[in-house]
Amino acid sequence: MRMKIPAHVAFIIDTLEKAGFEAYAVGGCVRDTILGRKPGDWDITTSATPKQVKQLFQRTVDTGIKHGTVTVLLKQCGYEVTTYRVDGEYEDGRHPKEVVFTASLTEDLKRRDFTINAMAYSPKTGIIDEFRGMEDLQKGIIRAVGEAKERFTEDALRILRAVRFSAQLGFVIEEKTGAAIREMAQRLSLISKERIQAELDKLLLSSHPEYLKRAWELGITAVIMPGFDRIMETPQRNRYHDLSVGEHTLKALQSVRADHLLRWTMLLHDFGKPQASIMDPDGTIHFYGHAKISAELAKGVIRGLKFDNATLDGVTKLVYYHDFPFPVSKAGVRKAMNRLGDELFPLLLEVCEADSRGKNSYAQETYLPKLVTIREYYRKIREAGDCTSLKDLAVNGRDLIEAGMKPGRELGAVLERCLEVVLDCPEKNTKEYLLEFAAESAE
Ligand code: ATP
Ligand code: MG
Repeated sequence: MRMKIPAHVAFIIDTLEKAGFEAYAVGGCVRDTILGRKPGDWDITTSATPKQVKQLFQRTVDTGIKHGTVTVLLKQCGYEVTTYRVDGEYEDGRHPKEVVFTASLTEDLKRRDFTINAMAYSPKTGIIDEFRGMEDLQKGIIRAVGEAKERFTEDALRILRAVRFSAQLGFVIEEKTGAAIREMAQRLSLISKERIQAELDKLLLSSHPEYLKRAWELGITAVIMPGFDRIMETPQRNRYHDLSVGEHTLKALQSVRADHLLRWTMLLHDFGKPQASIMDPDGTIHFYGHAKISAELAKGVIRGLKFDNATLDGVTKLVYYHDFPFPVSKAGVRKAMNRLGDELFPLLLEVCEADSRGKNSYAQETYLPKLVTIREYYRKIREAGDCTSLKDLAVNGRDLIEAGMKPGRELGAVLERCLEVVLDCPEKNTKEYLLEFAAESAE
């Protein structure tokens, strides 16, 4: 079978072959090309040592030279070229503790995680498929290369990668591989948070974020995110819900666009419900104040996974306000825009919508029209250019000082009070009115 490969990749393979080495495109790029998906990157595996690779190409970077990886630069693109290797045990980082180079392509393919990731291709040989990766690709199966338990012992991250690939490709996990995952899931506690974060993020951003349920069934979330098990075990019985908190969360995840902040927010938005749950004598369950608790718990999860501050801040805020605790009025929407800021506010609307779509039809009939109204107010507020933040206020600190107020903390508080007035009545955003209001309010 001939496969279409980029000219740069063909050039690298050809150059290595002409110099007497073997070279193949390998792993994810072969898998994705066969599936008709666009590969994220093209990796090349070769019998040449890093030193030999560096001698053949003009521009190279020592990306992971100890592990056999050299990046070859062609125009603006970089291609990782890695020497055939056999891995020792993996340590915390992305790379195994020790690697041994080998002359055998088969040995290199054997160290790879799943059959669908263990195929190689060169225009000269066609596809090299020693572990029936093609068959699994056709059947839609994630199967470990060789003995699953051994492979998960070498590197426990593969346990999570199995679910990640199944979510990205819509594949099922083969039975023995699944059984080994169940048995070995606890070993994920040995893996660095950064590596877990990267795989979880890919899982959530995939076309099947709801496959997280597989991770729960296989005992994975119990190790890496026990809060998810709590929501799976928490029933909801009230006018708006007929699913458990966990099932509602999965439905909400499917209802939201594949965006990093949105998917993480939907995953975590109801993490506080197990704690907030109270039952009426008639069996109805309420979750008063759960958004605040969820925000605290979300913060813990995002921090624990070593995410960046933008993710921490964005997800925490969106979770905190996911119930839209503002009046459905223009003033309420201006207040919400102020609390969330220009970037997060439109995302909050998507969060609210996905949350509603995760509920029963009664809830959807109640909330979705409200959201239409909120969106309409939002459009009008932007059209009118209403002030929704301190920077748009008709007065600033300097104005107040010029009017005789003393600099200091009280000044900030007065500006905040001016803003609250303007959020309610945008027509009051004039210097004249606000200076008078500030003078009164400061007394
Ligand atoms: P994508 O880049 O789309 O996330 P990928 O399959 O390319 O998917 P990478 O993490 O880029 O995944 O790894 C490239 C290849 O290296 C894989 O296809 C697999 O053959 C091998 N590989 C990566 N990580 C591991 C691992 N932890 N254990 C075994 N093999 C691995
Ligand atoms: Mg890749």
